[in-house]
Amino acid sequence: MREWEHNIRNVEPYIPGEQPKSVGVIKLNTNENPYPPSPKAELAARDFNFDRLKLYPDPNASQLVHGLAKYYQVLDNQVFVGVGSDDVLSICFLTFFNSDKPVLFPDISYSFYPVWANMYQIPYCEIPVDKDFHIVAKDYYRENGGIIFPNPNAPTSLYMGLDEVENIVKNNQESVVIVDEAYIDFGGQSAISLIDTYENLLVVQTYSKSRSMAGMRIGYAIGSQRLIEAMQAVKFSINSYTMNITSLVYGSAVLEDEEYFQECVEKIIATRERTKRELAELGFTFLDSKTNFLFAQHKKIHADALFEELKKKNIYVRYFNRPKIDNYLRITIGTDEQMNKLFAALKEIINED
Ligand SMILES: *Cc1c(COP(=O)(O)O)cnc(C)c1O
Repeated sequence: MREWEHNIRNVEPYIPGEQPKSVGVIKLNTNENPYPPSPKAELAARDFNFDRLKLYPDPNASQLVHGLAKYYQVLDNQVFVGVGSDDVLSICFLTFFNSDKPVLFPDISYSFYPVWANMYQIPYCEIPVDKDFHIVAKDYYRENGGIIFPNPNAPTSLYMGLDEVENIVKNNQESVVIVDEAYIDFGGQSAISLIDTYENLLVVQTYSKSRSMAGMRIGYAIGSQRLIEAMQAVKFSINSYTMNITSLVYGSAVLEDEEYFQECVEKIIATRERTKRELAELGFTFLDSKTNFLFAQHKKIHADALFEELKKKNIYVRYFNRPKIDNYLRITIGTDEQMNKLFAALKEIINED
């Protein structure tokens, strides 16, 4: 081996869900929203002057930052935007987790956390969820170099009440506590209401799920001015122009359409509740989801087999071959029509068995 080969960074990357190219696939594997983004995005696109592409975008992303600040009734300097929440979270790890003490996150959680920790050589400790997959707040009352967890958690879909979130933040005021709220709009209460009380709290959200804009790549963090300022400094040390001009324009346009947003979220919640009833009838059990997906297992057929059989029928769901969760499927809530096809396919598979 050449010396340069020894000097290559050896990392184990995160593996995202499949994006099948073939048409006619029912895609319930990456928690995308089945509904289109607000028509305001299309109107903004129609008015968009392509001549603007020749210039760099605003490095401060002011238009989008201001739109979000107004939407959440916070100050502009309490908002940070990035290329999807993955980009925001990655910058969080770099900015806040620089201690010799371990960063804490749940053992069953977003599998990107250990990837970033390894990538940035941050010590970490995975805190086991309880036997019913709940995050237990008091398990986080111990020495640490930072804390991060999703609420609701993924892939379990379980929501932790705001009181419990506050307990974790309150008991860890020497650490930065990050709440990854990718799914909060599907029935939870956001911790954004606590940011003025706790300077160490950062809330991260995304346009990818509830706002139907996964393809646009917009994520954001809301927290104290001190935290946001620190993230800006790191961002401007890597890449000043992370937000392309279209994300600034479309991203701020859709914030003006609260009615459409609520309508889509309510449709997904209604379909989710109907899916719970249908899956129960088919012999599934699942956790109490407050997200746009269900984490389900079947009483007879192994999740792995169901996953393969569904795929043969052109229905993609997510399967994680990992300890504790290897008999569960994560099923994104699609349209009612898509879910009806899923139920029909499951019926066939279960009856054949
Ligand atoms: C989907 C997801 C993200 C990342 O979403 P982006 O598309 O990068 O905004 C982050 N955290 C959790 C828990 C997610 O499920």
